[in-house]
Amino acid sequence: MADFNTHIFGAATVVSLGAACATKLFDLSMPEGVALMIAGTVGGVLPDIDLRKSEPSKALFSILGLLAGLIWLFANLQNLTGLELWLGTVLVYLLVRFPLGFMFHKLTTHRGAMHSLIAAIMFSVVTCAIAWQHVQTSALQSWLLGASVFVGVLTHLVLDELYSVDFTGVRIRRSFGSALKPLDTQQLPASCFIIFITLVAWFWCPPYEDALQQMNQRYLEWRPALIPTWL
Ligand SMILES: [Zn+2]
Repeated sequence: MADFNTHIFGAATVVSLGAACATKLFDLSMPEGVALMIAGTVGGVLPDIDLRKSEPSKALFSILGLLAGLIWLFANLQNLTGLELWLGTVLVYLLVRFPLGFMFHKLTTHRGAMHSLIAAIMFSVVTCAIAWQHVQTSALQSWLLGASVFVGVLTHLVLDELYSVDFTGVRIRRSFGSALKPLDTQQLPASCFIIFITLVAWFWCPPYEDALQQMNQRYLEWRPALIPTWL
């Protein structure tokens, strides 16, 4: 498998190209473009969330806890006092970091259900739903964030697959084929759970017709927007 740094670098490289093109094509603001890059880069390490007791997994649950805490904070900003907001945010962070992380590792095996295309779709639909419901991004930006995470996760799976091939001797290691698969047939309960989460999150996503409409309104001619004149 590729290591943490390779995943961060690989995802950031692929996603930044996509984010730069989307920013030009759909005339996005700078924070919108930067959010796409961050979402995609986090997507690039998300599948290794199932690495038990590893630094990447600890770091990931910390990041997810922080994001969950911040989303909770902004959702309750109007109704609660500063002290309540702080206490709640810390509590949400701790809940995600420890009990949720512990339960998660009880249920998964490395390179199991989280290393599959259906998991990539789940991560992307859940991101879209959270962005739309809790961060109040536009329908277009919510779907773009979801797409960004999908590209990040896909980059991770492809990198893991590439690293299972020994290029010097063209010997294929045992892990070949364990990263890029539609779904994990060895772990059917976990795979069904992933499909269930995806379907539930789908109902919380913005209507894609709205996103398409916003896309058409903001779309700029692709050739002058993307291709330099010297090419
Ligand atoms: Zn991996």
